[in-house]
Amino acid sequence: MNREEMIVKNFQNVQAALLAACERSKRNPNEITLLAVTKYAKDEDVLTLLQKGLIRHVGESRVQQALARWTRPDFARFDTVKHFIGHLQKNKAAKAARFFDFIDSLDDWDTALTLERALPQGKTLRALVQVKLTDKDTQSGLPLAQARELAKRLKELSRVRVCGYMAIAPQGAQTAELRRLFAQLKQAFDEDFAPGQERYLSLGMSQDFETAVEEGSSLPRIGSKLFADNLEGL
Ligand SMILES: *Cc1c(COP(=O)(O)O)cnc(C)c1O
Repeated sequence: MNREEMIVKNFQNVQAALLAACERSKRNPNEITLLAVTKYAKDEDVLTLLQKGLIRHVGESRVQQALARWTRPDFARFDTVKHFIGHLQKNKAAKAARFFDFIDSLDDWDTALTLERALPQGKTLRALVQVKLTDKDTQSGLPLAQARELAKRLKELSRVRVCGYMAIAPQGAQTAELRRLFAQLKQAFDEDFAPGQERYLSLGMSQDFETAVEEGSSLPRIGSKLFADNLEGL
Protein backbone atom coordinates (compact mmCIF):
# COMPACT_ATOMS: atom_id res chain seq x y z
CA MET A 1 0.00 0.00 0.00
CA ASN A 2 1.47 3.39 -0.90
CA ARG A 3 1.16 6.40 1.33
CA GLU A 4 -1.82 7.90 -0.44
CA GLU A 5 -3.72 4.61 -0.23
CA MET A 6 -2.86 4.33 3.44
CA ILE A 7 -4.28 7.79 4.20
CA VAL A 8 -7.46 7.06 2.26
CA LYS A 9 -7.76 3.75 4.11
CA ASN A 10 -7.39 5.56 7.45
CA PHE A 11 -10.20 7.87 6.42
CA GLN A 12 -12.43 4.98 5.41
CA ASN A 13 -11.78 3.23 8.73
CA VAL A 14 -12.75 6.37 10.65
CA GLN A 15 -15.82 6.85 8.48
CA ALA A 16 -16.91 3.24 9.05
CA ALA A 17 -16.41 3.57 12.82
CA LEU A 18 -18.49 6.78 12.83
CA LEU A 19 -21.30 5.09 10.93
CA ALA A 20 -21.23 2.09 13.27
CA ALA A 21 -21.42 4.41 16.30
CA CYS A 22 -24.41 6.17 14.71
CA GLU A 23 -26.11 2.86 14.12
CA ARG A 24 -25.56 1.70 17.71
CA SER A 25 -26.98 4.94 19.09
CA LYS A 26 -29.69 5.37 16.42
CA ARG A 27 -28.30 8.69 15.29
CA ASN A 28 -28.50 10.20 11.84
CA PRO A 29 -24.96 10.31 10.36
CA ASN A 30 -25.86 13.59 8.61
CA GLU A 31 -25.86 15.27 12.01
CA ILE A 32 -22.17 14.56 12.42
CA THR A 33 -19.33 16.58 10.95
CA LEU A 34 -15.85 15.14 11.01
CA LEU A 35 -13.27 17.68 12.07
CA ALA A 36 -9.92 16.57 10.65
CA VAL A 37 -7.21 17.70 13.04
CA THR A 38 -4.25 18.48 10.81
CA LYS A 39 -1.87 19.97 13.37
CA TYR A 40 0.64 17.06 13.23
CA ALA A 41 -0.15 15.88 9.72
CA LYS A 42 2.24 16.01 6.80
CA ASP A 43 1.24 18.45 4.07
CA GLU A 44 1.01 15.71 1.44
CA ASP A 45 -1.38 13.67 3.59
CA VAL A 46 -3.71 16.61 4.17
CA LEU A 47 -3.62 17.39 0.46
CA THR A 48 -4.53 13.78 -0.35
CA LEU A 49 -7.77 14.03 1.64
CA LEU A 50 -8.56 17.51 0.31
CA GLN A 51 -7.99 16.52 -3.32
CA LYS A 52 -10.34 13.56 -2.93
CA GLY A 53 -12.95 15.81 -1.38
CA LEU A 54 -13.07 13.71 1.79
CA ILE A 55 -12.58 16.48 4.36
CA ARG A 56 -13.75 20.08 4.62
CA HIS A 57 -13.57 20.98 8.32
CA VAL A 58 -9.95 21.19 9.49
CA GLY A 59 -8.50 21.93 12.92
CA GLU A 60 -5.21 23.52 13.89
CA SER A 61 -3.91 24.38 17.33
CA ARG A 62 -1.31 27.03 16.55
CA VAL A 63 -2.16 30.30 14.86
CA GLN A 64 1.21 30.84 13.15
CA GLN A 65 1.50 27.29 11.90
CA ALA A 66 -2.07 27.35 10.59
CA LEU A 67 -1.50 30.60 8.70
CA ALA A 68 1.74 29.36 7.18
CA ARG A 69 0.06 26.24 5.83
CA TRP A 70 -3.43 27.35 4.85
CA THR A 71 -2.45 30.58 3.06
CA ARG A 72 -0.18 28.67 0.67
CA PRO A 73 -1.82 28.46 -2.79
CA ASP A 74 -1.89 24.63 -2.84
CA PHE A 75 -3.94 24.66 0.38
CA ALA A 76 -5.86 27.91 -0.09
CA ARG A 77 -7.51 26.72 -3.29
CA PHE A 78 -9.67 24.27 -1.32
CA ASP A 79 -12.95 25.33 0.22
CA THR A 80 -12.32 24.52 3.87
CA VAL A 81 -13.84 25.50 7.19
CA LYS A 82 -10.98 26.31 9.53
CA HIS A 83 -11.25 25.63 13.25
CA PHE A 84 -8.86 26.80 15.91
CA ILE A 85 -8.73 24.14 18.63
CA GLY A 86 -5.73 25.13 20.75
CA HIS A 87 -5.25 27.52 23.58
CA LEU A 88 -5.81 31.01 22.18
CA GLN A 89 -3.41 33.60 23.57
CA LYS A 90 -4.92 37.05 23.71
CA ASN A 91 -2.13 38.56 21.64
CA LYS A 92 -2.94 36.14 18.79
CA ALA A 93 -6.69 36.65 18.96
CA ALA A 94 -6.92 39.40 16.34
CA LYS A 95 -4.99 37.35 13.82
CA ALA A 96 -7.11 34.30 14.63
CA ALA A 97 -10.32 36.30 14.16
CA ARG A 98 -9.30 37.28 10.65
CA PHE A 99 -8.15 33.82 9.63
CA PHE A 100 -10.37 31.17 11.24
CA ASP A 101 -14.05 30.36 10.72
CA PHE A 102 -14.46 28.77 14.15
CA ILE A 103 -12.76 29.14 17.52
CA ASP A 104 -13.60 25.86 19.26
CA SER A 105 -11.65 26.58 22.45
CA LEU A 106 -12.98 29.87 23.76
CA ASP A 107 -12.81 30.12 27.53
CA ASP A 108 -12.73 33.78 28.42
CA TRP A 109 -14.76 36.89 27.86
CA ASP A 110 -11.86 39.27 27.22
CA THR A 111 -10.58 37.13 24.40
CA ALA A 112 -14.10 37.00 22.95
CA LEU A 113 -14.25 40.81 22.99
CA THR A 114 -10.87 41.02 21.30
CA LEU A 115 -12.13 38.63 18.63
CA GLU A 116 -15.35 40.60 18.13
CA ARG A 117 -13.47 43.86 17.69
CA ALA A 118 -10.89 42.41 15.33
CA LEU A 119 -13.38 40.81 12.94
CA PRO A 120 -13.45 42.31 9.47
CA GLN A 121 -16.74 43.91 8.34
CA GLY A 122 -19.34 41.31 7.51
CA LYS A 123 -17.48 38.34 8.93
CA THR A 124 -19.13 36.05 11.48
CA LEU A 125 -16.87 33.94 13.65
CA ARG A 126 -18.43 30.86 15.19
CA ALA A 127 -17.27 29.98 18.67
CA LEU A 128 -17.58 27.02 21.01
CA VAL A 129 -16.96 27.38 24.72
CA GLN A 130 -14.39 24.91 26.01
CA VAL A 131 -15.54 22.97 29.02
CA LYS A 132 -13.14 21.35 31.45
CA LEU A 133 -14.50 17.94 32.41
CA THR A 134 -12.21 17.35 35.37
CA ASP A 135 -10.48 19.48 37.94
CA LYS A 136 -7.50 17.13 37.99
CA ASP A 137 -5.95 17.87 34.60
CA THR A 138 -4.19 21.10 33.77
CA GLN A 139 -6.40 21.53 30.73
CA SER A 140 -7.78 24.75 29.38
CA GLY A 141 -11.49 25.36 29.54
CA LEU A 142 -13.97 26.25 32.24
CA PRO A 143 -15.86 24.08 34.70
CA LEU A 144 -19.34 23.40 33.34
CA ALA A 145 -21.22 26.00 35.41
CA GLN A 146 -18.82 28.78 34.42
CA ALA A 147 -18.77 27.64 30.82
CA ARG A 148 -22.55 27.93 30.71
CA GLU A 149 -22.39 31.44 32.15
CA LEU A 150 -19.85 32.46 29.55
CA ALA A 151 -21.97 30.95 26.76
CA LYS A 152 -24.96 32.94 27.98
CA ARG A 153 -22.99 36.16 28.09
CA LEU A 154 -21.46 35.54 24.66
CA LYS A 155 -24.94 35.63 23.15
CA GLU A 156 -24.68 39.45 23.55
CA LEU A 157 -22.01 39.55 20.89
CA SER A 158 -23.16 39.92 17.33
CA ARG A 159 -20.24 38.88 15.17
CA VAL A 160 -18.82 36.22 17.44
CA ARG A 161 -21.63 33.68 17.33
CA VAL A 162 -21.54 31.20 20.17
CA CYS A 163 -22.95 27.89 18.99
CA GLY A 164 -21.97 25.12 21.38
CA TYR A 165 -19.44 23.43 23.61
CA MET A 166 -16.14 21.63 23.15
CA ALA A 167 -14.44 19.36 25.65
CA ILE A 168 -11.45 17.05 25.89
CA ALA A 169 -11.78 13.76 27.77
CA PRO A 170 -9.85 13.57 31.04
CA GLN A 171 -6.57 11.64 30.85
CA GLY A 172 -7.07 7.97 31.54
CA ALA A 173 -10.83 8.12 32.16
CA GLN A 174 -12.63 4.77 31.92
CA THR A 175 -15.38 4.45 29.33
CA ALA A 176 -18.20 4.46 31.90
CA GLU A 177 -16.89 7.65 33.50
CA LEU A 178 -16.42 9.20 30.08
CA ARG A 179 -20.00 8.41 29.12
CA ARG A 180 -21.24 10.02 32.29
CA LEU A 181 -19.24 13.21 31.67
CA PHE A 182 -20.18 13.39 27.98
CA ALA A 183 -23.85 12.78 28.75
CA GLN A 184 -23.85 15.50 31.40
CA LEU A 185 -22.41 17.99 28.92
CA LYS A 186 -24.87 16.88 26.23
CA GLN A 187 -27.73 17.67 28.57
CA ALA A 188 -26.41 21.17 29.26
CA PHE A 189 -25.84 21.63 25.53
CA ASP A 190 -29.46 20.73 24.74
CA GLU A 191 -30.69 23.19 27.35
CA ASP A 192 -28.45 26.06 26.25
CA PHE A 193 -28.51 25.56 22.47
CA ALA A 194 -31.94 24.61 21.23
CA PRO A 195 -32.22 22.04 18.46
CA GLY A 196 -33.07 23.64 15.13
CA GLN A 197 -30.50 26.40 15.37
CA GLU A 198 -26.93 25.99 14.14
CA ARG A 199 -25.18 24.20 16.99
CA TYR A 200 -22.21 21.92 17.64
CA LEU A 201 -21.14 19.66 20.46
CA SER A 202 -17.49 18.83 19.88
CA LEU A 203 -16.55 15.73 21.87
CA GLY A 204 -14.22 12.90 21.01
CA MET A 205 -10.73 12.46 19.60
CA SER A 206 -9.02 9.46 18.01
CA GLN A 207 -9.17 7.37 21.19
CA ASP A 208 -12.76 8.08 22.22
CA PHE A 209 -14.75 9.40 19.25
CA GLU A 210 -17.00 6.36 19.05
CA THR A 211 -18.12 6.77 22.67
CA ALA A 212 -18.43 10.52 22.09
CA VAL A 213 -20.67 10.07 19.05
CA GLU A 214 -22.83 7.57 20.93
CA GLU A 215 -23.24 10.22 23.63
CA GLY A 216 -24.24 12.98 21.22
CA SER A 217 -21.11 14.57 19.77
CA SER A 218 -21.75 16.31 16.46
CA LEU A 219 -18.17 17.42 15.76
CA PRO A 220 -15.61 14.76 16.70
CA ARG A 221 -12.01 15.95 16.27
CA ILE A 222 -9.77 13.33 14.75
CA GLY A 223 -6.03 13.62 14.16
CA SER A 224 -3.87 10.56 14.66
CA LYS A 225 -6.45 8.02 13.42
CA LEU A 226 -6.44 9.85 10.09
CA PHE A 227 -2.81 10.77 9.73
CA ALA A 228 -0.65 8.41 11.79
CA ASP A 229 1.71 6.08 9.95
CA ASN A 230 1.55 2.90 11.97
CA LEU A 231 -2.02 2.21 12.82
CA GLU A 232 -3.05 -1.19 14.01
CA GLY A 233 -4.26 -3.42 11.27
CA LEU A 234 -2.43 -1.69 8.43
C1 LIG B 1 -4.66 17.31 18.85
C2 LIG B 1 -6.06 17.49 19.21
C3 LIG B 1 -7.03 16.59 18.75
C4 LIG B 1 -6.72 15.36 17.91
O1 LIG B 1 -6.19 14.37 18.72
P1 LIG B 1 -5.97 12.87 18.18
O2 LIG B 1 -5.89 12.08 19.41
O3 LIG B 1 -4.70 12.90 17.41
O4 LIG B 1 -7.13 12.52 17.34
C5 LIG B 1 -8.36 16.85 19.09
N1 LIG B 1 -8.70 17.91 19.86
C6 LIG B 1 -7.79 18.78 20.32
C7 LIG B 1 -8.25 19.92 21.15
C8 LIG B 1 -6.44 18.60 20.02
O5 LIG B 1 -5.55 19.46 20.51
